[in-house]
Amino acid sequence: MILREFKAGRIYQGSLGKGKEIIDGLAEVMRRHEITAGTISGLGAVSEAQIGYFNAQTKSYIKMVFHEHMEIVSLKGNISFKDNEVFPHLHVVFSRKDFSMVGGHLFEGSKVYAFEFEIVSFEGKSFTRGFDKDTGLFLWKG
Ligand code: ZN
Repeated sequence: MILREFKAGRIYQGSLGKGKEIIDGLAEVMRRHEITAGTISGLGAVSEAQIGYFNAQTKSYIKMVFHEHMEIVSLKGNISFKDNEVFPHLHVVFSRKDFSMVGGHLFEGSKVYAFEFEIVSFEGKSFTRGFDKDTGLFLWKG
């Protein structure tokens, strides 16, 4: 187990414009406001997206790109450090035209149609991610 107590910091609410890449847009906000720990939530729609499913057998992501308009039913994430950079880890659920859902780990390549988000920042610096041999994932190391 890994656990750290934080004090609540500032809360941000905003939107990203049509065509903006979601991870880029959120990372830009985090850099500009020196957000080094916290949570992210959001909703809206995308015109294309790339999500992944981590295959525990092969210890690698199966990635899938969707070139279609989808609703962002829920986007949720946290903020920590990876390779000395502040890193948003984001998971998402999309709804498609037929109302079916797809979801997973959000990768770069997701273009905003409309996106509204909140970032709740914590005071101080969050965990640093390091490679974990048991899972094949970059997990919080402390
Ligand atoms: Zn993930």
